[in-house]
Amino acid sequence: MSQGLVYSSIEEIASAYECVNASFRSGTTKPIAFRKKQLLRLASLFKDNLEAFEEAFKKDLGRPVFETHFCDTNAIVNEAILAYNKIDSWVKPEKAPFDLDFFVLSPKIYNEPKGPVLIIGPFNYPLWCIAPITGAIAAGCTVVVKPSELTPAVSQLLAELFPKYLDPSCYIIINGGVQETTKLLSLKWTHILYTGSERVGRIVATAAAQHLTPVTLELGGKSPVVIDKNADFDLAARRILWGKVLNAGQTCVAPDYILVPAEAQSRLVESFNKVYKQFYPDDDPHRPGVLARICAHTHWDRITSLLNQTRGEIVFGGETVREEKYISPTLVKNVRFDDSLMKEEIFGPVLPIVPVPDVDTAIKYINDHDNPLALYVFTKDEKFSTRVRENTLSGMFIVNDVLLEAASSITPFSGVGSSGYGSHRGKYSFDTFVHKRAALRSPNWIDFILGFRFPPYTD
Ligand code: NAD
Repeated sequence: MSQGLVYSSIEEIASAYECVNASFRSGTTKPIAFRKKQLLRLASLFKDNLEAFEEAFKKDLGRPVFETHFCDTNAIVNEAILAYNKIDSWVKPEKAPFDLDFFVLSPKIYNEPKGPVLIIGPFNYPLWCIAPITGAIAAGCTVVVKPSELTPAVSQLLAELFPKYLDPSCYIIINGGVQETTKLLSLKWTHILYTGSERVGRIVATAAAQHLTPVTLELGGKSPVVIDKNADFDLAARRILWGKVLNAGQTCVAPDYILVPAEAQSRLVESFNKVYKQFYPDDDPHRPGVLARICAHTHWDRITSLLNQTRGEIVFGGETVREEKYISPTLVKNVRFDDSLMKEEIFGPVLPIVPVPDVDTAIKYINDHDNPLALYVFTKDEKFSTRVRENTLSGMFIVNDVLLEAASSITPFSGVGSSGYGSHRGKYSFDTFVHKRAALRSPNWIDFILGFRFPPYTD
């Protein structure tokens, strides 16, 4: 139990597992009408209880209400409605491309539900990260969701509301920490979608391998920003600072650090100073409702320790209050590659600027490190962005903006290498939870043509 969060018992986990297995086998989730109803009920769950979620996010993360709507409640409602609107076309058997040798076999690909699946969420965007449940429902899977224990108010609310809105034999919330998740991971699922840290991602992938269960890993890492000397610096500063203060920087695709030509650093800093004044005209981001708080003291300790060790120069911010888990929006310039702020994903509102001699140095630094989840480039020159894109690899690539990839339902949200594998959002969530089942139907007369395949063989 943690601050009002009721952990599920080991017996409840076992019975939830049996329940979602039995419901799937009984065919409850087969009819499209059932799936549609559940998708609408899911959207209603969040719409009807919006104020309760606003309060829960305030308690867990000190979240401004706008951010709760923009990043979490709207995201999951929109995904549910999209799946509801698209499900008929998504579930349709797909026609295989025409092939003269095979068309007589009526080749088709059926989108079959995989079965009972497990979704494990992190603390930072508790609803956005479990929104792939919309794809699982549309696919016809039964689902157990394990939200984070670090957002006790949101996770408890989910546990209370799920059975009131959704079929409780098909969609179940299990709450808990390491022990409960370990128990869940010991069971045989047909797919696991995990969002969280790379460290735990390895634990999840290892556990899944025991059952040969396919896994989607949505992990994090350091997402760089590469700035061209001819970029629009005011625009870059406005968008990057927003990406860093949203949810107090606790965003998997937050711009983690900036690589800028050394000769342009002071111009960029000037733009950041201007934007800071526009965002916080009273110079008081500390006021409740302005900036989210760091989710847990352990994370606050980690971020402030990185900040205390930096050898860069603080341009603004640097205010830290442990009791409130507060860290002010902080810009640090003249950061070197071997600085504390460059060692790990910052996951807080601290933004280092690293001056580099040229774009090749930036590209080399990125390639010498783990594949980022997102890579951002700010430039007016298409050749510059193409050069960065063609010479690096990241989960996602965005020019002249940040974070918007997380809102798009038409492109896959996915990592590569150590930032994860598999994808979700929109149809990509649906595709994650279906098996593409190839089907051929052979007519009797085909042996007039294909009879040569039978022994005795001739040359
Ligand atoms: P976390 O890995 O600590 O926790 C995520 C989940 O794993 C929680 O439900 C937790 O209960 C469970 N867990 C923790 N330790 C475990 C263990 N030893 N065994 C089994 N389960 C365990 O992650 P977090 O701190 O909540 O989230 C932050 C991380 O998630 C960051 O690295 C961030 O970049 C990443 N993230 C990625 C995405 C994405 O879509 N790629 C989105 C949000 C967050």
